[in-house]
Amino acid sequence: MRRTAKILIIDDDKSICDSCTQVYAKDGYSVDIAGDGLTGLQKVKELKPDLALIDLKMPGMSGMEVLEEIRKIDPEIVLIVITGYATIDSAVEVMKKGAYDFLPKPFTPDELRIITKRALEKRNSLIEVHRLQKMREGFISMVSHQLRTPLVAVQEYFEVILGGMAGEVTKEQRQMLERSKIRIDELLMLIKDWLNLSKIDSNRIVDKLEPVELIPILTEALNLVKTLAKQKNINLKMDVPMDLPMVLGDRETLKQAFLNLLDNGIEYGKDGGSLTINVKEENENIVVDISDNGVGIKVEELPFIFEQFYQTKDQKTKRTGGTGLGLSIVKKIIDAHYGTIKVISEPGKGSTFTVFLPRVKNKEVKK
Ligand code: ADP
Repeated sequence: MRRTAKILIIDDDKSICDSCTQVYAKDGYSVDIAGDGLTGLQKVKELKPDLALIDLKMPGMSGMEVLEEIRKIDPEIVLIVITGYATIDSAVEVMKKGAYDFLPKPFTPDELRIITKRALEKRNSLIEVHRLQKMREGFISMVSHQLRTPLVAVQEYFEVILGGMAGEVTKEQRQMLERSKIRIDELLMLIKDWLNLSKIDSNRIVDKLEPVELIPILTEALNLVKTLAKQKNINLKMDVPMDLPMVLGDRETLKQAFLNLLDNGIEYGKDGGSLTINVKEENENIVVDISDNGVGIKVEELPFIFEQFYQTKDQKTKRTGGTGLGLSIVKKIIDAHYGTIKVISEPGKGSTFTVFLPRVKNKEVKK
């Protein structure tokens, strides 16, 4: 059963306190009152209410100050402000300071009931979001410590044994140990990709978006795959226009997305083939094509390749050590940039992954 919600009324007007208490008590809430801001803050600490109803205009500490202090004590308490002068300005101001809503005086019991019910629903969903967030963080840290750390230790023992530092190793033993080492490498790669995916917090990317130049990001990503391309004798090319508007982006995550696409272009590319980046401006977007002439993807598999852990069925074209997480990481990053990603591909001919990122209009560029 859900516990009774606790409400604190902070108002110097005794008649308001009494009438709100009556309404709340009738609806089964547990209510407490404070006649001024300081007492209110004290009670917030002691009672830990779910909701506080605060009068904006009080002698001594103002409602606005009380609101700011409560936010510092517990950001999850939902706050409703009672305001005598329901001007847009004061309403906007209180919402900016973190109030859930405001209630202009005079108000009816039903108006109080409706706003309170909605605010408490908001509080419940906030608590649920925080609970899930904490669980997620706990799980991520469990994976990185309890799973990754022992595997790294095992890996180090393998290296010591294979290096002959723990005595002689027969040919058969060496083969088995080498195979085991590859399996552990794959498992570590899976954990690394999974952690990467989990750490990509779309909200955090959105918060960090700023006008960025795309070409240096693409160049950096390209430099990082040069060695891999050389091993397969793949020719890297980049074709960019002279004058390219900026995009709203987060440099690091964008680089990671393009790096994953380039890495795939080489992994699934043809020995001695080519990998080309083509950048252009089209309508409101900057469009980046990454094309290889490698194994390609069957049309029936295309709808699934951005899903987590999806790897194509074809054993011949499957990459050893792949995790099936690379493209889902790319998609999550591009989505957080309000962009889109598409792919066209033909088995045996190659694939083109196209990323569309909204360009920054000139007036949006901060000088
Ligand atoms: P993986 O770790 O398996 O590469 P991804 O999520 O990066 O995982 O890719 C998912 C699947 O999509 C891959 O297993 C592969 O079959 C296919 N794929 C991705 N990029 C390409 C490409 N450039 N050419 C052909 N197939 C590709």
